[in-house]
Amino acid sequence: MAELILHPGKERSLFKRHPWVFDTAVAHLAGHARRGDTVTLCAADGRPLAKAAFSPQSKIRARVWTFDVEMPIDHAFFKRRVAQAVARRAALPELRGQDGLRLIHAESDGLPGVIADQYHDEMSGDTVVVQLTSAGADKWRSAIVDGLVKATGCARVYERSDSEVRGLEGLEPTTGWLHGEASAGDIAIGEHGVKMVVDIVAGHKTGFYLDQRENRQMSRRLAENGRVLNCFCYTGGFSLQALAGGAASVLSIDSSQPALDRAAANLALNPSLDAKRAEWRCANVFDELRQLKAAGETFDLIVLDPPKFAPSAAHAERASRAYKDINLLGFRLLAPGGLLMTYSCSGGIGVELFQKIVAAAACDSGRTARIVRRLQGAADHPVDLAFPEGEYLKGLLVQVD
Ligand code: SAH
Repeated sequence: MAELILHPGKERSLFKRHPWVFDTAVAHLAGHARRGDTVTLCAADGRPLAKAAFSPQSKIRARVWTFDVEMPIDHAFFKRRVAQAVARRAALPELRGQDGLRLIHAESDGLPGVIADQYHDEMSGDTVVVQLTSAGADKWRSAIVDGLVKATGCARVYERSDSEVRGLEGLEPTTGWLHGEASAGDIAIGEHGVKMVVDIVAGHKTGFYLDQRENRQMSRRLAENGRVLNCFCYTGGFSLQALAGGAASVLSIDSSQPALDRAAANLALNPSLDAKRAEWRCANVFDELRQLKAAGETFDLIVLDPPKFAPSAAHAERASRAYKDINLLGFRLLAPGGLLMTYSCSGGIGVELFQKIVAAAACDSGRTARIVRRLQGAADHPVDLAFPEGEYLKGLLVQVD
């Protein structure tokens, strides 16, 4: 097996069990390795430290599979890791019975570059959607899929490896069925008693934003009798929960007409919800919030769940301005005593920086505001303590005077 020898001192992050080795940390490759091959990571003095997947094109040159240098990296290794990830979810009572569940959360489940989300439909059973974003994950596709089928007994597995980050690893986009066949109808899941169709083929990511499941439940409790504004609504997750919670009205904004069409269709699937209270608007949130302000509108609960403005720390400055802008507009639209649920899913914006941005927005809006709750991704999106980068989703529930 080839060895990737590090520069002196560059082994320190591995001692802290961080799973990434950057190109700048690597002195040289001893032996031959192709994209995705397993290599042994060695300190400058030759000491073996870990086994990792080699990615010659990526700035993240290697991602650790195991710190046990005796452990074989083979089919059985991946089946075990997948089974462990599935078992971790099964062991958390709060995750039992969820129709939509993240089964594998990449680095935080010891499987860098592997995402797997499970959708349970009453009619068609379980569909698992996998996304493989690293060279190592791509190489071990069949072992990972075998592991998923074995651990879950799912009827089908669909691959959605069309995320842009694959390009950084020199991988082409790839999508399609890996196990079983397309179910005849739409995949519909229940979330806190609300029915939602998940478009695993054409939707965002694996079809649905499972990371916001617990926050959507919270929005339901906060919406009662209020005028709700849901910005970046996608297929209406927060909007439908707010309606279920008894919101007086819910105005939802997204720039994607297909997402809004799906949202309206999702509402129609839930006859117990009062469709007359919902309005879907196709617009750019940055413009629409200014229009709403000019029209003198106010809201009791505003949700701001924008897309990733800063994929990495390098984009943080421009992204900070965008976050500040929408939060400032949000504060201006809140009625006295109103609540703002505001999020960032940017890996490049940390929890502290995000709070500073929201504080600056409140200050500029002239509102006094207090943090009522800190918000994060759902429990099936755990964060390995050795890998703080796994905490990409952060949010604040803020109340204004
Ligand atoms: N809150 C949603 C997920 C939001 S994903 C849920 O719980 O399911 C982000 C959404 O923002 C996407 O649907 C995307 O179409 C939309 N979007 C991106 N930029 C936008 C903009 N400038 N104005 C309005 N919508 C935007």
